[in-house]
Amino acid sequence: MKFIFADSLDYVDPAFDFIADRSPAERQPYWDDAYPHEILGYAPYDGVLVSRGIVGDHRVKGKYTASQARRFGLVGVRKFLRLDRPEFTHLDIFGDCGAFTYVNEDRPPYTPAEMAEFYDECGFTHGCSVDHVIFDFYPAVVGMEGGSVDAKQRFDITLENADQFLREVEQIGASFTPLGVVQGWSPGSMAEAARRLVTMGYEYLAIGGMVPLKSPEIKICLEAIRAAVPASTKLHILGFAKADDIDSFHGYDIASFDTTSPLIRAFKDAKKNYYLPGDGLALRYFTSIRVPQAIENPRLQRSVKRGTFRAEDLVRMEVAALGSLRAFDRGEADLDEALHSVLVYSAPLFEEKPFEDCQNSPALLQLAKRYRETLSERPWRQCPCAICAATSVEVIIFRGSNRNKRRGIHNLAVYKNHIERLDLKRAVKRTDEISRRLCAAEC
Ligand SMILES: [Zn+2]
Repeated sequence: MKFIFADSLDYVDPAFDFIADRSPAERQPYWDDAYPHEILGYAPYDGVLVSRGIVGDHRVKGKYTASQARRFGLVGVRKFLRLDRPEFTHLDIFGDCGAFTYVNEDRPPYTPAEMAEFYDECGFTHGCSVDHVIFDFYPAVVGMEGGSVDAKQRFDITLENADQFLREVEQIGASFTPLGVVQGWSPGSMAEAARRLVTMGYEYLAIGGMVPLKSPEIKICLEAIRAAVPASTKLHILGFAKADDIDSFHGYDIASFDTTSPLIRAFKDAKKNYYLPGDGLALRYFTSIRVPQAIENPRLQRSVKRGTFRAEDLVRMEVAALGSLRAFDRGEADLDEALHSVLVYSAPLFEEKPFEDCQNSPALLQLAKRYRETLSERPWRQCPCAICAATSVEVIIFRGSNRNKRRGIHNLAVYKNHIERLDLKRAVKRTDEISRRLCAAEC
């Protein structure tokens, strides 16, 4: 099972100064920055996915600057992502259209011919057909029943595009592997889409529209699709938001999936921000310690404007929280001292009140409990990755992109290892089963 990381220019500044809290003045974004595979010294994924919509152009506003998009077209995806070194040649590079960026349009802004050319010229190893996201989902309708007029239109557009895309790929003699994208409003309609894609000639399918679905819903779709296509058909899940649940998906024979989840959770989840391997094959999660920049945090600034706090007092609390966390890491402050400094600064942040007025509020008590667990375990000391080794306690501090994304990249490394352990477990299990069967036959 291949873990493909959906990139969205997720790099960090290797020269970032954590004490001064800034990058060198001469830093050039992108050029001086490091991708996850650069800062870790190895790739914490089996491949990368780049969406056309993230690159952007005059029709779709992407995340790349105009000059980055130009360079991408000029040098190709591998060189742009700095994956053109020998140690990274084994990595797959998937491309898709980024259907979420044009979800409100009547039709996708890209033609199948244009996308086939784009993937081929930019050097992708795998390219998805031009799909149109269907948002309705009815788990209980049977076969091709149900589905709004809009859903059916999108279903037809996706399949027409897939048919044309495959013909384009053949015509230009493209060297990438084409994936037919499945869109549907129910397990039955997705299975029908999959069946038609296989009839067209696709051997690798990408299941779209999975982002808003819960794990059990994704599973009934996979079951329906698996039943409709040959066992040799490979399946990819596009935008797999339930990445932490991957263990329970092992039975569906997924060849690959893409996600950003381990990176994003580092700074978008309320609790699960830092990953470590857990007992058996589980993951273990820690809450990172929020110490935002007093003069930049909108919530803290609001309370200054309202007159609840003075800016200089907030800055003092911020400095004290950072100082005590570092002292704790060096063994010069005890856990209670560090926790107290952090909570004094958390009160204005979470309750917009001074600590003395809300120290027993449920929110602050909950936070204290989670922070205590993080501090007492010192997870950053348990991780051998290059980021944790170099930055120590800074990686657990929730503050600005250089700390938050580093923590996310550390999570990618833990997650990649998690996938490898699951695959290994499955491999062992399979070998056991086969040898048992062989033995049974022989005996
Ligand atoms: Zn680490």
